[in-house]
Amino acid sequence: MVGTLVNFAHSVGIMALVAMIYGGLIRWRMPRAAIDVMGGLCFGTGAILSILSPIQIAPGVVADMRSLFIGFGAAYSGPIGAAVTVLMASGARLSLGGVGQLSGVVTIILTGGVGLVWWSLFQGRVNRPVMAHLLLGGLMSAGLIGTCLLPADLLMRFWETVGAVLIVFNLVFSVVFGLFLQREQLLAFREQRLKHEASVDSLTGLLNRRSLVEAYEGLPGEQAVRGVGFLVLDIDHFKDVNDTYGHATGDVVLQLVSDVFRDTVREGDIVARAGGEEFVAILPNMDEKAMKRVAERIRRAVESLSQTPQNIRVTISVGALWSSHYPDLDEALHQADNYLYQAKGEGRNRVVQGRMRSPGPVAPSSGAVAG
Ligand code: GH3
Ligand code: MG
Ligand code: MG
Repeated sequence: MVGTLVNFAHSVGIMALVAMIYGGLIRWRMPRAAIDVMGGLCFGTGAILSILSPIQIAPGVVADMRSLFIGFGAAYSGPIGAAVTVLMASGARLSLGGVGQLSGVVTIILTGGVGLVWWSLFQGRVNRPVMAHLLLGGLMSAGLIGTCLLPADLLMRFWETVGAVLIVFNLVFSVVFGLFLQREQLLAFREQRLKHEASVDSLTGLLNRRSLVEAYEGLPGEQAVRGVGFLVLDIDHFKDVNDTYGHATGDVVLQLVSDVFRDTVREGDIVARAGGEEFVAILPNMDEKAMKRVAERIRRAVESLSQTPQNIRVTISVGALWSSHYPDLDEALHQADNYLYQAKGEGRNRVVQGRMRSPGPVAPSSGAVAG
């Protein structure tokens, strides 16, 4: 009895561990297929540990929780995870040998199959976790039909002794394991949302200043081959817009202008709201002439915005700085700011541009940038 309890605790511990590792996996920024392969490895390891540490139900009669790990491997890591889990569990079962070998492997495959049925039904969206996982437990129990391949006497003994217990295990622990995994999914989702909220400006959806720095530091070194452009963009007489039409209208204008910025640059360029009505665009791998063209294109696109509230005419001034290498970001923005100031002084609604002056290249720190 005590041995059985210890074994239970052992299995639940493995479930919790597998759920934790699964939670770590889904937080990684990796292709789905890679996450599923690793998910499969993780559930497969759980299955192997189960097969190797069965629970003693009665003297000479053992059961193990492999179905749970195999079913969940398929249910939570899809066809790829199912394939990996089933292969691992089958390998472990075959290595044990014995008369139940064929039946064991067929049951493993069937359990992977029913896990996939659940996966295709829910696709990661579970509204009522207890019911959903009871269903998964039921499906996994249906996988036990593979025991029909056992020799008749063993089959009888199996269903007289462990069969019913295994079905109860499947149902109860499916809910337990399911709640562990759902909790991990929920936490990962919340974390992702918080991260997104912390990195994006809520009014415009553009990056905020902090993530601008992060994005710049993350630029791959080879993207500076043709140079890097830095644009500092500022709405002209924006205070008048607020004063005349109100702050809410000003906000709409900020959103419209942000949309223009987002739509005018290439994918891979960095656009951020640096604060107030000032924006920054970083254009990696761009020569000086192309940078000038992009800056002009953005300026013209804002000037010709037609859907503004009360037909407000919106213009921007742009300070554009080109550098042949990745410079220190603060220094580049400071120099671009000087050109912006000049553009304002020369009458606004224009681009003033120049090249980065010393302090020259700084040794890259994280591949691309120094700072
Ligand atoms: P200039 O052409 O010289 O840039 O003139 P300006 O009026 O645009 O310049 P200034 O920097 O004096 O004014 C910026 C204004 O932007 C002041 C501030 O109230 C407004 N502003 C900053 N953030 C927001 C915001 O989130 N929403 C709105 N509606 N206004 C904002
Ligand atoms: Mg302004
Ligand atoms: Mg300003």
